Amino acid sequence: MRKPLIAGNWKMYKTLKDARALAQALRKDIDGLFTDREVLVCPPFTAIPAVAEALSGSTIAWGGQNAHWEKQGAFTGEVAAAMLADLGCRYIIVGHSERRQYFTETDATVNKRMHGVLAAGITPIVCIGETLEERESNRTLSVIERQLNKGLVGLSAAASAVVVIAYEPVWAIGTGRTATPDQAQEVHSFIRQQYGKIYSQSAAEQIRILYGGSVKPDNMSALMKQPDIDGGLVGGASLEAESFKKIVHYTV
Ligand code: PEP
Repeated sequence: MRKPLIAGNWKMYKTLKDARALAQALRKDIDGLFTDREVLVCPPFTAIPAVAEALSGSTIAWGGQNAHWEKQGAFTGEVAAAMLADLGCRYIIVGHSERRQYFTETDATVNKRMHGVLAAGITPIVCIGETLEERESNRTLSVIERQLNKGLVGLSAAASAVVVIAYEPVWAIGTGRTATPDQAQEVHSFIRQQYGKIYSQSAAEQIRILYGGSVKPDNMSALMKQPDIDGGLVGGASLEAESFKKIVHYTV
């Protein structure tokens, strides 16, 4: 039985004061309410210690949005997964499409980051997804296949059963245009099938595949009714306590 994960990606939003206030509001609204779902927030690096303090001892986890693959070194501007482990991060997002688009992230660097995150004892949330142009030229499934084959290669049997995959069609991120539950399910089921071929049927059945792309309170429940959707990666709607709380309260 896969436990759904609802993750908020705060991107490059929230000063220290605002991050602390949002974390406190979420704690008040969500803490201790659910045993059948996990809740996670991924603030910008600067706010992680304050968010960790605000959420310490609660049922809400915190994580990072990116990490370098090396443990340490001369990599100005980067942060190592081990440093995020120090802050109590349980998850780290890897290969978000904004990083692929603006920061020259490739399947190869996504793969290195994923392994770096695992080596630090943290669960990676590896993002994959097609652009509008790729979808319109019927290349969605081949793009997903390539991203899985290259971006997730080399996992041990144990690790292959714990990584989290986020399917985020690029055309749905921050656009207000969500994939329909059927469109998302088609790709999620393909991801699970391919993952089973690369690793094992048992790993494929255990991993959680999140949907991301304009998830809102009014579309979350319909998405979660799909058999291969195991949670959401939420950007814009995770920046306000009220909307994130409603998303977390989805019903199936
Ligand atoms: C995201 O940042 O991963 C995301 C899906 O953003 P949004 O929910 O705003 O589309």
